[in-house]
Amino acid sequence: MAFSTFADARTALENNETSCEALVSSFLDRIASENPRLNAFLFVDQEGAPARARELDQRRAAGEHLPLAGLVLGVKDNICIKDWQATCGSHILEGFTSLYDATAVQKLVDAGAIVIGKTNCDAFGMGSSNENSYFGPVKNPLDEAYVSGGSSGGSAAAVAAGLCHAALGSDTGGSIRQPASFCGVVGLKPTYGRVSRYGLVAYASSFDCIGSIGHSVHDMAEVLEAMAGVDRWDATSAPVDVPEYTPALTGDVRGVRIGLPEEYFADGLDEGIRSVIQNAINALEQAGATIKPVTMPHTPYGVATYYVLATAEASSNLARFDGVRYGYRADLSKLGRSASLTDLYVESRTEGFGDEVKRRIMLGTYVLSSGYYDAYYGKAQRVRTLIRSDFDRAFEDVDMLLTPAAPTPPFKLGEKTDDPLAMYLGDIYTVTANLAGVPGLVVPAGAHPTQPQFSVGLQLLGRPFEEAQLLRVGDAVMKLV
Ligand code: GLN
Repeated sequence: MAFSTFADARTALENNETSCEALVSSFLDRIASENPRLNAFLFVDQEGAPARARELDQRRAAGEHLPLAGLVLGVKDNICIKDWQATCGSHILEGFTSLYDATAVQKLVDAGAIVIGKTNCDAFGMGSSNENSYFGPVKNPLDEAYVSGGSSGGSAAAVAAGLCHAALGSDTGGSIRQPASFCGVVGLKPTYGRVSRYGLVAYASSFDCIGSIGHSVHDMAEVLEAMAGVDRWDATSAPVDVPEYTPALTGDVRGVRIGLPEEYFADGLDEGIRSVIQNAINALEQAGATIKPVTMPHTPYGVATYYVLATAEASSNLARFDGVRYGYRADLSKLGRSASLTDLYVESRTEGFGDEVKRRIMLGTYVLSSGYYDAYYGKAQRVRTLIRSDFDRAFEDVDMLLTPAAPTPPFKLGEKTDDPLAMYLGDIYTVTANLAGVPGLVVPAGAHPTQPQFSVGLQLLGRPFEEAQLLRVGDAVMKLV
């Protein structure tokens, strides 16, 4: 028995009812039986994880106390771990191994975490269903005919299927929160700059955040506490003190002012999701929270703004994959003539990138091109500021916002692969937090009325660096519903 939450596992460790080695071995057994179907892990550290667990058991026996000793962790395959693969879900990075550890991983390992493997994802974090992974889609453990969500679908599915206690993901426009919602688990995207991005392969640098997925808000509070903080290797990491988060989890929501942005409850929201979210709102109100309607007038421009700015940044960030420095290099002998440097770039990128990544590089290059820069990129930057000011204004009246995480329940594998725009529109409730840089927490809020195999994800969006408030209310929601 591996225990679903880390907190339970730690209690068992403290009572000598289990060991880190036993925890790892039971997760490895489950991975062996479930992963061939789910495809959540791309790499499993079969030898290293048990060895690390034995080392931690010895250190525990010697009286050493590490806060996260025995936390078995999956890490999205766009986050670097020294000497391990980091494919980012793309063919172009197949065969590449990292030269260093991401700061977030290093800090968690220092606190006692055991990394058990690397999780599947949409290529470079581009997608909402995990169907853009070169290594195949991830199935939703709640119903395997359905997508896991994305882009951190492997991390969400691994947690939901009980293959690890928690997993790291990255969230550029919802990639932690949406798959957490689809798989019925907890997902936390911290404030931009709260966690170092050092060692996270860049998709859109002014949006990217490392965050976590797990079974309980309490576990997420502890993971955040261990990995947050300023880092000399990431100039955008914020020099803001990291509080202890678990004392915030009192279950008490009296006096908390929660805003309901009317634009997030407009037409197009699935009625089953609406009713589950409404139940949670009623429960919070009964528990003493104050619920207020608010308006966020620029919300309808969120998806368009995100897809202009994120693709612009991606087209620049992904220029480094040239067939020379990293991973995949095309075999040029097939050209049947002497090859140029341009041939090397063109062939390696043509064969190495998938369709969605190419679509975004082209879109991003277009919006940055001299004739269109002002009309698209410049305009989108200005709308980004307006979206940020919607949040600032709302936070003058309320402490946080409550919204659905996604407008629809999970969809079937293959259902939206031919319609990228429909896929993009599903990101409507999550992209705004990344545009504004604010933290977001998604918790399961109850079974969907007509598709009861799935639970509905409830999203809380907070003021920058006030993750503690979100964790308090998110924890309360899970206890109330
Ligand atoms: N689904 C969004 C996209 O496709 C968000 C991705 C992310 O957060 N990495 O870009």
